[in-house]
Amino acid sequence: MAEIKEYKNLINGEWKESKEQITIYSPIDNKEIGKVQAMTHKEIDDAMAAAKAAMKAWREVPIVERAKVLYKAAELLEKRKDEIGEILAEEVAKNLKSAVSEVVRTADLIRYTAEEGIRVHGEVMKGDTFEAASKNKLAIIRREPMGVVLAIAPFNYPINLSASKIAPALIGGNVVIFKPPTQGAISGLLLTQVFEEAGLPKGVLNSVTGKGSVIGDYLIAHPDVNFINFTGSTEVGEKIGEVSGMKPILLELGGKDAAIVLEDADLEKAASEIVAGAFSYSGQRCTAIKRVLVEEKVADKLAEILEKKVNSLSVGDPFDNAEITPLISNKAADFVEELIDDAVNKGAKVINHPKREGNLIWPGVFDNVTLDMRIAWEEPFGPVLPIIRVKDENEAIEINNKSEYGLQAAIFTKDTTRALEIADKLEVGTVHMNNKTQRGPDNFPFLGIKKSGVGVQGIRYSIESMTKLKSVVINI
Ligand code: NAD
Repeated sequence: MAEIKEYKNLINGEWKESKEQITIYSPIDNKEIGKVQAMTHKEIDDAMAAAKAAMKAWREVPIVERAKVLYKAAELLEKRKDEIGEILAEEVAKNLKSAVSEVVRTADLIRYTAEEGIRVHGEVMKGDTFEAASKNKLAIIRREPMGVVLAIAPFNYPINLSASKIAPALIGGNVVIFKPPTQGAISGLLLTQVFEEAGLPKGVLNSVTGKGSVIGDYLIAHPDVNFINFTGSTEVGEKIGEVSGMKPILLELGGKDAAIVLEDADLEKAASEIVAGAFSYSGQRCTAIKRVLVEEKVADKLAEILEKKVNSLSVGDPFDNAEITPLISNKAADFVEELIDDAVNKGAKVINHPKREGNLIWPGVFDNVTLDMRIAWEEPFGPVLPIIRVKDENEAIEINNKSEYGLQAAIFTKDTTRALEIADKLEVGTVHMNNKTQRGPDNFPFLGIKKSGVGVQGIRYSIESMTKLKSVVINI
């Protein structure tokens, strides 16, 4: 276990302390694990000024040289996988195996970003490609950095979802103001350390931590920010949308992903995928399966298999590699309990009894969920899975599309043609066939529509989002 220590912010190449600190407690046992800085507005201004001052020199660094820094960061991160994985496990109550694999996956992401960045060269167009245009015109279309990118990450993947913003921003020639989540700040600051040690010039990456109420709005409204890349709740995302005005933004927000199970599905396989999709990291994933829409004919059988599989999930300590671990806070657990109570009071059938001890909630499956229950629509971010029985695929599509969210969906069937037809009708960013909903692989496009987000992430797409086109037209 890590010793209790104070973590500072990287500003203009120096590790800076603020007057006040915030204590970070582990959601596992409420033990103090470290302190991070509570920055003031003035200190945020200093970080912005450092980033702006570093902008010109960094964009002039050849991409191959920027890529070398990323390769080095990936190497350093991978070397520290056990140490950082342990702190991550303690800080966000993620099981140790998943925490270490998040670190390793992130090193892969950073490496791939370096490779992809080298290939983003822009294009050339000739005037003879358009009727009545001058044949002599030639457009040289290049990609330029946005400038200062504000990267804001959520608590559930503070290493991966931070690096998936920072690395593509840097390779694109941007400078970064990185705000890790408060619960997850220590992990985020260790990641910052890795980038610094990899050789980033001063001011190119600056970390900012503080109380959300003090620095949140100040950051997003800051006039020096040229681009906001945010992953988190729809509530905060909507606020960013309102405040950002004409600033370009990339928002990856909440979801209510459905697993649609048709009567010809391999039910064993579907149930295994659904349990993994719904319950890994105790359901605290944007792409967790958050409801099952199953055809009536196979609903009893599916519920029976789900019950068995869910009962065999281990519950407890992340350091014992339990599958279900404490939620991020008591407040989060209260919210899950509220949704459970609402469903049970309105007649949902409890399949696995979800008992609660503090912020640890045992996994629960609820059958016969109806559309008047909050759990049919709201994102619990906890280990609970509602089953909604439908008469046919059309009803499943209709219920899926009624959601305010549109992140992902999964379809379970042996009939690929039918699955493709359904996929066409689902209002989501990604559809998985006979597989759980999930964010990776990190180089695939990842996007949410409706209240699940704006813009596209995924390594190449993130680089493209955080760079702008410049067209230079010459006469030849
Ligand atoms: P959150 O919205 O509470 O916080 C996200 C980040 O925003 C944190 O760093 C937080 O400190 C910061 N923040 C809070 N208020 C702010 C403000 N006013 N201005 C600027 N920043 C502010 O989300 P969370 O609880 O950390 O994460 C869970 C949510 O994130 C869920 O809704 C989940 O679905 C979503 N999420 C989405 C994706 C995706 O890619 N679509 C991935 C992971 C999580």
